Amino acid sequence: MEWLVVMRGITILGSTGSIGCSTLEVLALHPERYRVVALGAWRRDELLFEQVRRFAPEFAVMADAAGAARLESRLRGTGSRTQVLAGAEALAGIAALASVEQVMCAIVGAAGLPSTLAAARAGKRILLANKEALVMAGELLLEAVRRGGGELLPIDSEHNAIFQCLPLGSRCGVAPSGLKRIILTGSGGPFRDWTQAQIDVATPAQAIRHPNWSMGPKISVDSATMMNKGLEFIEARMLFGVSAEQIEVVLHPQSVVHSMVEYLDGSLLAQMGTPDMRTPIAQALAWPERMASGVKSLDLVAAGRLDFLPPDPTRFPCLPLAQQAARTGGLAPAILNAANEVAVQAFLDGQMNFGGIPAVIDKVMQQAAIGRIETLEDVLAADDAARRAARRLLPADAPKHAGAR
Ligand code: NAD
Ligand code: MG
Repeated sequence: MEWLVVMRGITILGSTGSIGCSTLEVLALHPERYRVVALGAWRRDELLFEQVRRFAPEFAVMADAAGAARLESRLRGTGSRTQVLAGAEALAGIAALASVEQVMCAIVGAAGLPSTLAAARAGKRILLANKEALVMAGELLLEAVRRGGGELLPIDSEHNAIFQCLPLGSRCGVAPSGLKRIILTGSGGPFRDWTQAQIDVATPAQAIRHPNWSMGPKISVDSATMMNKGLEFIEARMLFGVSAEQIEVVLHPQSVVHSMVEYLDGSLLAQMGTPDMRTPIAQALAWPERMASGVKSLDLVAAGRLDFLPPDPTRFPCLPLAQQAARTGGLAPAILNAANEVAVQAFLDGQMNFGGIPAVIDKVMQQAAIGRIETLEDVLAADDAARRAARRLLPADAPKHAGAR
C-alpha cells in the first residue's frame, strides 16, 4: 500500500531564537513531512543567513530594515531564490500565507502579538510559544482563532503538558467537564535557594544561568524572578478556561513532571519527560499524531526522586503580582507584562538591580487605571502607557551591584 504524504507548509516567527532553532532541529528530522515556507527574525542576520541556506524558504523577513539589507547582501551571489523582506507588516504577511498551514509563533515579548493575531485571523494552526501575546490580549487572540477557523496549540512546556492531559476534543478556552484543577509546575529558577539579600543584587549572568532549561535571555530572567510562572498562570486561565482558584503553582526542582491535571474523581494526570522544548514542539507540530523529536528518553532510575514544594511569595513577589493581575483581569495582565518587559530589559542592560524588577512592576500596577479590553487599540494603549510609567521609575544611574552582560 502506498501512503499519501502531505507536505505541510510552515512559517517560523522568531526562527533565530531558542524556540525557533529547536523547531528547525525537529523539522530537519522530517523533511518528507514539512516544508519551511518562511522565516522571520530580528537583528541576528548571520544566523538567519545560515537558516536560509539550509532550509531554502520562499521568504525571509527581518523585523529591522538594516538587518534585512545585511541579509540580502550576504545572500547575493549564492544562487538563493529566497525573497528578503523587512518590517512588522511583512512578519504578519508570512504568518498568513496561503501555502502555510502551521505558524510557530516564537518571537519574544509584545512584539509577537501582531503576527500571532495575523496567523489567527488567517485560520492557521498556531504553535504558541509567545506567551506574552496571550497574556496581553488573550480574549482577543482566542476570539480571532475561533473566527479564523484555525486552532491554537500551546508550546510552553507546562501548557503543552496540560493539553496532553486533557480529553481529546477539548476546546481552547473551555474547561472540560470533570476537571477539578490544574497544577502548574516550575523549577523555581536559579535563585530558588538564595536569600533575599543575595537575590536583590544578582547579576544578569547569574539570572540567565537556568539549572534545567536553555532559553532566551528574557524568559530566563522571568524564570529567575518567577514572573515566568506568573505569566504562565495567566496563560493557563486563558487557554483552559479555569478560574484563578483552580490553578495551583508547585515547585518541582527536577523539571521532570511538566504539569498536571486533576479530575473530580481524584485522578491526577501528569506529562513527564526530559526537559527539552523539542518534545512540546514535535507534539504540537504532529498533533493528533506523534513523531520523533530527537529528545532522549527520560531515565527514571537516574532521575531517582521527584520533589514538590510550595513557592515562596516573599522572595519572589512577581508570582503574586501576576496572580493578582489574573484575578483583576481586563487590561491588568497587559500592564503587568509591559512593566515587566521594561524592567527586565533595564536589568539586562545593567541599569537596575535584580531586586528592582518586582518593585517597578508593583508601582506601575498601583498607579495604573485598569480598564476593560474592548479592542486591540485598548491593549496597545495600555501597553504603551505602562512602558512609559515603568521607564519613569528606573534609576537614573546604574546601581553599584548591577553588572551588565
Ligand atoms: P529568544 O530571545 O531566544 O528568541 C527570540 C526570537 O524573537 C529571536 O528570533 C528574535 O530575533 C525574535 N525577535 C525579538 N524581538 C523581535 C521583534 N521586535 N520583532 C521580530 N522578531 C523579534 O527567545 P526564546 O527563548 O526562543 O523565547 C521565545 C518565546 O517563547 C518567548 O515568548 C518565550 O516566553 C517563549 N518560550 C520559550 C521557551 C524556551 O525554552 N526558550 C519555553 C517556553 C516559552
Ligand atoms: Mg514554561
